Amino acid sequence: QAKAQGRGTHRFYTAALTQQAEQRVRIEGELRRALLAGELRLYYQPQICLGDGRRCAVEALVRWQHPSHGLLLPADFLPLAEETGLILPLGEWVLDEACRQARVWLDAGTELRRVAVNVSVPQVMRQDLPALVASALARHELPAEYLELELTESLLLYDPERGAQILDALKALGVSLAIDDFGTGYSSLAYLKRLPIDRLKIDRLFVRDVPDDADDCAIVCATLDMATHLGLEVVAEGIETEAQAEFLRRHHCAMGQGWLFGKAMPAEQLSADTC
Ligand code: C2E
Ligand code: MG
Ligand code: MG
Ligand code: MG
Repeated sequence: QAKAQGRGTHRFYTAALTQQAEQRVRIEGELRRALLAGELRLYYQPQICLGDGRRCAVEALVRWQHPSHGLLLPADFLPLAEETGLILPLGEWVLDEACRQARVWLDAGTELRRVAVNVSVPQVMRQDLPALVASALARHELPAEYLELELTESLLLYDPERGAQILDALKALGVSLAIDDFGTGYSSLAYLKRLPIDRLKIDRLFVRDVPDDADDCAIVCATLDMATHLGLEVVAEGIETEAQAEFLRRHHCAMGQGWLFGKAMPAEQLSADTC
């Protein structure tokens, strides 16, 4: 009985794995097609200056408007894009589209100071990112200070030397650099000293249970304290409640982002909200 069941289970898993592999190949093909067909969208989430409540920046977040599955989130397709290398053309599209939209906002005279774009590790390590950024800025005649790149600590895990060189080259263009999901990676804090970083984004994980959880409050305060001494600005991610915002404001966190202030939305909707 056990043996029969074992075989059955094995067969089940084999079938499931084959199905999974087939599904991956199918999604990869679809994503390739989506890129060409223009099914990707950028949504923008406001970043608020906690002091005066103004929208001073936005973060571009990619979506896939799938013809039959509806609006897909990054979690549904980015891991696959990173594994297959499709993240490279996808990332180029994101960069170009964000610069185009930033130029539109700049021309409209909005008070936005910056558009932040997420960049994954393969984009930094496997292509000439500084050249791509420079050409996107030039194409849209966007001053570099309007663009921020969000990188993760994992960038420095495999090849810190090369990572540092690329960040220096990006910084030399005049764009600003932020460390996303700060505190969730495994890299040493020493990098903060050597790298040309402007901003830290405290991960939602640490913001979630503030102000109730004493440990999370301590982590957030220590991060803010360290950032101040290093001359870095902090953006708190995932702010959902007024109590969280109040705690962060009280501890002099410069900026916040989260559903309390607005979800990611299409550019037109954000412009309408702002005006
Ligand atoms: P991230 O850069 O840390 O972006 C923040 C994520 O948290 C976004 O999820 C955002 O919608 C979500 N979020 C914002 N405020 C709140 C809140 O108050 N509560 C909760 N529960 N969630 C909130 P999203 O859009 O699903 O993106 C997930 C991740 O995918 C991003 O995390 C980023 O790492 C990656 N990503 C998104 N767009 C791009 C892109 O264009 N290129 C690359 N390479 N990665 C991207
Ligand atoms: Mg981000
Ligand atoms: Mg983040
Ligand atoms: Mg994240």
